[in-house]
Parts: sequence; structure tokens; C-alpha cells
Amino acid sequence: PRGDSFDLSHKHGDSRWPRQNSLSMKEWDIPYDELKLFEVIGTGRFGTVYRGSWHGAVAVKLLHVLSDDCVPLDTFKHEVATFRKTRHENLVLFMGACMKPPRLAIVTSLCKGMTLYTHIHLRKDKFTANKSVLVAQQISQGMGYLHARGIIHKDLKTKNIFLENGKVVITDFGLFSVTKLCFGNNLRGDSLGIPAGWLCYLAPELCRALTPHASLHLPFSKATDVYAFGTVWYELLCGEYPFKSQPPEAVIWQVGKGVKQSLANMQASRDIKDILMLCWSYRSSERPDFPHLLTTLQKLPRKRLARSPSHPVHLSRSADS
Ligand code: ATP
Repeated sequence: PRGDSFDLSHKHGDSRWPRQNSLSMKEWDIPYDELKLFEVIGTGRFGTVYRGSWHGAVAVKLLHVLSDDCVPLDTFKHEVATFRKTRHENLVLFMGACMKPPRLAIVTSLCKGMTLYTHIHLRKDKFTANKSVLVAQQISQGMGYLHARGIIHKDLKTKNIFLENGKVVITDFGLFSVTKLCFGNNLRGDSLGIPAGWLCYLAPELCRALTPHASLHLPFSKATDVYAFGTVWYELLCGEYPFKSQPPEAVIWQVGKGVKQSLANMQASRDIKDILMLCWSYRSSERPDFPHLLTTLQKLPRKRLARSPSHPVHLSRSADS
């Protein structure tokens, strides 16, 4: 497994650090019986999330495990090892995991507030440019931290970003591989196994690599996370998904060839559109990294205010929380 040493001793007979590592993994092992599960918050592609209690309010994501032989325990433990390395204001707090099959669960702090998806697509809340910038800055901060830790999110999207009193909390990072290992061929969606609302976050190199059931081997990278961030930025500004209401085949074909959602009807300054175009660059090497994005975003509001103090703030319903 990549980078982390939780199972090196048992896999490679390396006895240098076995005790410390097995102990540190145990620290994160939560016996299933200690968890209290209350109502279901929601069911996603790979698991069901419950409101629960474990020394206080928590969210418990119980992974759907279809059969014992599909349980990728090593991969799951690797994801847990990845999770425990994350401590950042803008990332959900990982508290531990149940690691005994068939009960595999991830326990995190319970996010209050709503996801950006709920704000934007369900409640149709409007985000002003300034508010969007503040949200995007916090996403960049959290993502920059993840990347500095060598962690690729792989599933950055508005459904995985909560807004709690104006504070961004990113969830679901790193879980993609383990869940795909279990469900690779069983995803609901069309014949390519593409769930609705996922495609528009996929960079061209991912779209080109899509073949039926190939999602396990998709070439995710820091740059594919940046592409996904671009889509979140677009949703914040426009209140809808790019390539809205186009069939998956059309989106894959266009994105794979380098066609981008047109910004002609978008009411935004050049700088704001430039960020979008950079994040959506066809070549992954041309996409900025998150520290760079953060710097660019931090310069935006000042520029806007200096240029146009009377810029109309069209708010039908505030997305403030
Ligand atoms: P997908 O499986 O495609 O990622 P999803 O994001 O809706 O879709 P889950 O991540 O399984 O699926 O989440 C299910 C529900 O639980 C969602 O409504 C999500 O907002 C909610 N949820 C997830 N994590 C937390 C958390 N830490 N606190 C509160 N609610 C959460």
C-alpha cells in the first residue's frame, strides 16, 4: 500500500515498527457495539450515513458490504490510515472506524448545516461573488492541506462540502478506492457505471479513461481534484451544473476532446472566469495547484471592490448560514 506503514510489518515481515503501528491503528478502531445508531441521514453510492452517538454526536458511514470476499480490508485500513492523518479546520473530523468485516464503518464528526449541493441545487440559494470567493478560499485551504499530505480527494463535489455558519467542511476524501473496490461493477447509473451528477467533475483524462467497469483504474491526481474544484466554482457562481441536461455520452465526448462549458452567459468578471478556465484546462499540467488558487482568490474581492463599489449584489434569497 502507498506510503502508510500500518500493515508493512505483517506483509513484508518488517519488524522495525510493528508495535507502534499496530497500536496506532488500534487507537482508531471503534468496536461496533460502542456505537449508537439513530436515524439514517442519507444513503450514497457506497454506504448509509446514520446520525449516531459515540462520546457525543457523530456521523457513522456504514459501508454496504455485499459479500465477505469483496471486503477489501487492507484497502479499507489504508483509507483509515489516510484519514487519521488529517487535521484541518475545513476537513471533517475523523474519529475512528469499525474495521471488522462485515461491519465496516467510518465515524466522523457530525456536520451541521447543509451541503453546498443542498444550498445550490435544492434550495436554489444564490451565492454572491464575494460569498463564493470566501467559500472557494476555504475549499482551497482544505484541499491544499490534503494535497500537501499526499492525499487525493478523488470525489470533490458540492455534495461532499458542508457549510456550517459560513465555515466550509469537506467530507468523504480518500474513500473512493475502497468503495469502488467493493462496488466497482454494481454502481447504479448508466452502462458505464456513472452515477448522475458525477460526470461534470471528471477531468478530460478521466473521461477518456472511462470504459465500462474501469472506474477502479481511473488516473486520479491532484490535478483531477483541481478540475473538480473548477466545477464547484462554476456551480457556486451559476447555480447549476456545467453541461446541464446533456446526456452522459455527450458530456464525455465533449470533455474528452477539450470542449468546455461556455461561459458566454455567465455574469462574472474576467478574473473569475479565468480561474474557471485554468482549473478546467485540458492539460493537467496547466491547472493551478490549490495554494496558487488560494492566492488568486484572495486577490479577487479587493480588485472587485476597487473597480466597482456599486457592483449589484443580486440576492433573491441569501445563502448565508
Ligand atoms: P455519493 O455516495 O454519491 O458520494 P452522497 O454524498 O449523498 O453521495 P454519502 O456520502 O454516503 O452520499 O452521504 C449520505 C448522506 O449523509 C448525505 O446526505 C450527506 O450529506 C450526509 N453526510 C455524510 N457525511 C456526513 C457528516 N459527517 N455529517 C452529517 N451528514 C453527513
